[in-house]
Amino acid sequence: MMSGPARHAHTAALGGPAVPPRLGIDRILHPRSVAVFGASEDAGKFGGRIMHFLIRHRFDGDIYPINPNRASILERKAYASIADVPAAPDVAIVAVPVSRMRETVEGAAAAGVGCCVIITTGFAEADEAGLDLQAALVEVSARTGMRIVGPNCMGFIVPHHRMALCSSVVLNTDSLGDGSIGMISQSGALMVSEFDRARTAGIGLRYGVSVGNQSDLELCDFLEFMVDEPQTKAICLYIEGLLDGARFRRAAARCRQLGKPLIVLKTGRTAAGVVAAKSHTASLAGSWEVFEAICRDEGIVIARDPDDMMRTAHVLASFNGRRPGHRVGVLSSSGGGASIASDRVTEIGLELAPLTEATFDALGTMLLAPQARNPVDLGGRKVPADVEIAGTATATLFADPTVDIGVAFLMSMPFYQKRCLLIADAVRDCGKPVLIVCTPGAAADPARQALRERGFVVYEDFEQALRVLALVAEHDRMRQQPRTVPVRPADLPPPDKAGTLPGGAMGERAVKQLLAAYGVPVARETIVRTPEACADAAAAIGFPVVLKAVSPDIVHKSDAGAVRVGLADAAAVVEAARQMLATIAERQPGARVDGFSVQEQVRGEAEVIVGIRGDAQFGPVVMLGLGGIAVEILGDVALVPAPVAAADVGAMIARLRTAPLFHGARGRPPLDTDAISQAVERISWLAADFGARLVDLEVNPLIVKAAGAGVVAVDGRATLA
Ligand code: ADP
Ligand code: MG
Repeated sequence: MMSGPARHAHTAALGGPAVPPRLGIDRILHPRSVAVFGASEDAGKFGGRIMHFLIRHRFDGDIYPINPNRASILERKAYASIADVPAAPDVAIVAVPVSRMRETVEGAAAAGVGCCVIITTGFAEADEAGLDLQAALVEVSARTGMRIVGPNCMGFIVPHHRMALCSSVVLNTDSLGDGSIGMISQSGALMVSEFDRARTAGIGLRYGVSVGNQSDLELCDFLEFMVDEPQTKAICLYIEGLLDGARFRRAAARCRQLGKPLIVLKTGRTAAGVVAAKSHTASLAGSWEVFEAICRDEGIVIARDPDDMMRTAHVLASFNGRRPGHRVGVLSSSGGGASIASDRVTEIGLELAPLTEATFDALGTMLLAPQARNPVDLGGRKVPADVEIAGTATATLFADPTVDIGVAFLMSMPFYQKRCLLIADAVRDCGKPVLIVCTPGAAADPARQALRERGFVVYEDFEQALRVLALVAEHDRMRQQPRTVPVRPADLPPPDKAGTLPGGAMGERAVKQLLAAYGVPVARETIVRTPEACADAAAAIGFPVVLKAVSPDIVHKSDAGAVRVGLADAAAVVEAARQMLATIAERQPGARVDGFSVQEQVRGEAEVIVGIRGDAQFGPVVMLGLGGIAVEILGDVALVPAPVAAADVGAMIARLRTAPLFHGARGRPPLDTDAISQAVERISWLAADFGARLVDLEVNPLIVKAAGAGVVAVDGRATLA
């Protein structure tokens, strides 16, 4: 359901004067009147279900059924045409066939409708004709200010407004539930399924919005509204592709500022590998990795599963903007549960709460010593018959000040339901979010039912509860993570250098000159034309030297035999240059060799790769990784949007699996991480200055010396648009 190119801004309406939108998002989601095209009494028809649902859920605005063949529908006066409706409706819901869409939308606009919600499919998502038709609808919208949701959407559900402009059978219930979570989805089916699934689990939504093709109103329109609406406590997004990355980031930044949790599920993870691997940066910084980097930067939680997303939102919403904390208390009903929990809690990246002495002492009066810890094992009762202890032990554990969030892992136990309820009561009283997991099968159904009746969201899957806690903890960590506002170093060249450079590929020499201008140290070099001229150049630089062929045709110099290191005297350099011509002629016949670069041989402790990828959606992103196996085989890189402050590069390094190698592992000296940070900061500003002109850039390698001794770039390539 990707959007077609027909999208536009209302203010840029096809050269005509700007037409202000007729309605804002608030009123569109809370209409006072609704027109239903194709209204019917037959619940087997679209317009019938919409009517039934509006009435069943007691929508208290005006309802205008549009149907030329009926005088009334479900005791509401029907109108032959939208033009006959006595007052312009706020919203009209439209599911007429494609063939009648244009006249219907024109008619709605002429009748003063504020917004059309278009359910019909067969537009930009289908074919060229559909794309044209969608463009025609957008043109009506732009000309009149009537907004459009969809087409190809499933409408929206707003329980607190007792309104569902949606025909899904999941609305065929007595209650829509209600809650504080806003969900916006590019998939209509996912929106209604999760709406139903969440409600069944006891999680109410404040909004469920399906945006479809986003021909006019898009995901960010609804997101911006929900970010600033105080009653929306957490926001869930299902995203297939964003229309405006910068706008999305601004909304996310505002969420972060307000402490409002934003959780996204985005598809397209595996598309990353599709990019032709011309450089490591291109293959390791695909669009998914870039999206992840943006989310980390903006504090957006990424869920892998829609149900996890909703449950995480539910837990986070309960904090009402406060930080949830991330230390976990685990309660288990048995030794088996406690063992599994001990293994998995840390594996999934959660931190067990350490507990205070007072808590250990209190637990120790009820439980045997090995069970009186975190995880608490209720199986270790000192008095086995003491069933009541379930409640007191729970209360003791979760009252501990080092416990922020918790999970109660309830396997089969005698008096199952009674104990579940004792535990649940203690959980409620502790005021912290504790996820209750009932693992038995049907035997636990009565207990589950009783817990749900008391308002608990029951988990059946211990792993899911842990995943949700891990996402809660991640939200917390992102909120505490300091974030430095990047400040452009004063000694950088004016930011307009990009304009003066020609487009196309830039080789090592040109990139190194650019890096040097941005204050990144580069290897000294002299360019000469002939093998014989290498001798004097090398003597001037000082032995040993590195020799490279200069060629516009060679991308990977080592592969072509165009790099030789460790040349110790003049004779060796000249000989190496002659051989190099022969090797290149053999390995890459026809490659032009314009001359040779004689370079100082830089000695360091390690090589890192610093890359830039210009992402179409989010702009330049910086990549950092340890050269060699770590990057080439393990793909171990860290990404952040450019520019990045030097102070935040340490956090990038910390995310690498190879981080210990930067800090001096196995008897090796620590690397100069300060110099790496400076170089990354400067390269990130270079990228920010070049903006969309910089397709990619890679410094491979940046040779890193021991702490205090600096870094030197010895190779680089780039592509300019
Ligand atoms: P390629 O096009 O194959 O990436 P490079 O210029 O990166 O060519 O050279 C290959 C390797 O040679 C580098 O990874 C580095 O280990 C070494 N090297 C290149 N230039 C220098 C230099 N000036 N000092 C020290 N080592 C160098
Ligand atoms: Mg290289």
